[in-house]
Amino acid sequence: LVVLENVNKHFGDLHVLRDIDLSVTAGEVVVVIGPSGSGKSTLCRTINRLETIDTGRILLDGQPLPAEGRGLAKLRSDVGMVFQSFNLFAHKTVLQNVTLGPMKVLGQPKAKATERGMELLDRVRIGNQAHKYPAQLSGGQQQRVAIARALAMNPKVLLFDEPTSALDPEMVQEVLDVMTDLAKEGMTMVVVTHEMGFARRAANRVVFMADGQIVEENTPDEFFTKPQSERARDFLSKIL
Ligand code: ATP
Ligand code: MG
Repeated sequence: LVVLENVNKHFGDLHVLRDIDLSVTAGEVVVVIGPSGSGKSTLCRTINRLETIDTGRILLDGQPLPAEGRGLAKLRSDVGMVFQSFNLFAHKTVLQNVTLGPMKVLGQPKAKATERGMELLDRVRIGNQAHKYPAQLSGGQQQRVAIARALAMNPKVLLFDEPTSALDPEMVQEVLDVMTDLAKEGMTMVVVTHEMGFARRAANRVVFMADGQIVEENTPDEFFTKPQSERARDFLSKIL
């Protein structure tokens, strides 16, 4: 579904992505881990073209990512993204946050967007908060709204960049539970996270990055019990 071939990216002199080859098949959950600054966020951002790449190719459904115009708008709905900071519209209600994109970008009529929006809010277990404003919700609730908002665009793949890092500890699990449900339902997901419990439970594959490179990738079982590289062993010894 998503294929990166020999992708390279620089920020000035900094070679932030080095010869990245990665392919994500439909229904797969790939967890990306690695030290701070290793390029995980940049990798995610290239997949929906929030960042351009210098060399290599990125394909979605076999097609190169569109650079501009309508194609780019379509890409942004096909590739949903959930960030560490929830980025909700503060002056819109929870429900409006979820229906805005489908109405504006997909051209859905309000009634349909609302019906589907409520369905998605129920799915992330927050239907009873639909008419509140983001500031009236907890961080965990806001992040679940952000997930519902991404789902409302009917994405082919969802990217998560440290979705629980900004949350108080007691709210982490409710967000991970929603993500685990999505994974079980067959959603294609690329998840940057330090939550190793989630990686073990939900990932089909763990990708370990360091210094802009994919150092190793493996099933969670293999990766956590038998990391192949010194870098991965060192990283795991610090976080587990
Ligand atoms: P973290 O775990 O801290 O989120 P990360 O693995 O997500 O780290 P990136 O955010 O992808 O790392 O950053 C990789 C490198 O690129 C870092 O050295 C960072 O400082 C640099 N970088 C990221 N964005 C930019 C930018 N817009 N301009 C210049 N340098 C950048
Ligand atoms: Mg990051």
